Amino acid sequence: MIIVLATGATDEQVEIIRRKLDDKGYSAHISRGIEKTVIGAIGITKPEDKELLADQVRALPFVERVVPIVKPYKLVSKESQPGPTTFHVGEVCVGSEQLTVMAGPCSVESREQIIGVAEMVKRAGANMLRGGAFKPRTSPYDFQGLQEEGLGYLKEAREATGLPTVTEILDPRDVELMHGYADVLQIGTRNMQNYTLLKEVGTCRIPVLLKRGMSATIEEWLKAAEYILANGNHHVMLCERGIRTFETYTRNTLDLSAIPAVKGLSHLPIIIDPSQGTGRREMVMAMSKAAIAAGADGLIIEVHPKPDEAMSDAQQQIEPGTLRQLIEELRPIAAAVGRVI
Ligand code: PEP
Ligand code: MN
Repeated sequence: MIIVLATGATDEQVEIIRRKLDDKGYSAHISRGIEKTVIGAIGITKPEDKELLADQVRALPFVERVVPIVKPYKLVSKESQPGPTTFHVGEVCVGSEQLTVMAGPCSVESREQIIGVAEMVKRAGANMLRGGAFKPRTSPYDFQGLQEEGLGYLKEAREATGLPTVTEILDPRDVELMHGYADVLQIGTRNMQNYTLLKEVGTCRIPVLLKRGMSATIEEWLKAAEYILANGNHHVMLCERGIRTFETYTRNTLDLSAIPAVKGLSHLPIIIDPSQGTGRREMVMAMSKAAIAAGADGLIIEVHPKPDEAMSDAQQQIEPGTLRQLIEELRPIAAAVGRVI
C-alpha cells in the first residue's frame, strides 16, 4: 500500500509509521518531497491483516490517504483520487474550468524576441509563456538553446508581462538552477523515461508538464508520472504531443484519443501540444479546437513573430495574430464543453 502523509508531516510522524510497518513485518520506502511525504509499504501478509493495518494507518491524523496497490500506477490513478487535480500556477488554476493556454516560441532566441512574443501572446489571450532555453535537438549540430542566458531572458519576459513561464529541463542537476526562472518544468518526449530526472523533479515544488514519450503507451506514460508523485510532487500535468506511427505527412500522429483515455484512468490534467503533434502550422488551429472539444485541460502552442526565421521548429510555429484568432474561435467550443478561455 501507499501512504500519503498530510502536508507538513514531521520526521517524528514519519518515524511512527515506519515503526508501525516494521512491527507488522513491512518495509517502508520513504520519499520525502517538499510538498508531500509518500511511504510505500512493502510486505507480504494475509489480506485481512493488510486491511486492518490500512485502517489503523488511515486513522492517524497526519495521514492524508492510504492507497492499496492494485494498479501499477497508484497515486496517478483515479482509484486514489476520484476528483480532478487542480493547482495554481500564478493566477491560472490548472485543471479547473479555466483552460490553460501556454504559448511562446519553441526556443528563446534573444531578449527582444522572448519579451516581444510574451507581450503578443498575452494580448492574444494566452495565460502562460513557453520558451525553451535548453533544447533537446535530434542533431548535435542544431541550435542547442541559449541555456542559462535564455533563462534570464525568460525571467525578464515574465516580469514584463506577469505570465508564468514553462521551460524544459534536460538535466537532473539543473533543478536547483530552475528555481526563480521556471514556473512549470517541462519534461520532453525524449526524457519521459529518464527516471533520474523524474525522481529529481519529484523532490521539488515546481509543477511539472510531463510530455508523452513519442513511442510510449498510455500506461508507460502514467507510470512515468507516478515517479514524480511518488517522490512528493503532486502538481503534474500530462502532455500529449504526438506519437510515432507509419504516417510521414505529419511530424507525429497527435493521439487525441489519449484525452478520454487519461480522463478515464487518472485525475491529472491533460494538455495538448498541437505544434509538435503535427509539425505543420496549418494544422494547429484545427487540432487545438478538436483537443478542447474532446475535454483537454489546455494547450501548449508554439508562437513566433517570424515563424520562418525561427531557430528551431520553424514549420510548426504560428504567428501571434493566428493565436489571437485561434483563441477567439475556441471560445464557443470551450463554452460548449463547460470551460472558459
Ligand atoms: C518542445 O516543446 O519544443 C519540444 C522539444 O517538445 P517535445 O519534447 O514534445 O518534442
Ligand atoms: Mn519545439
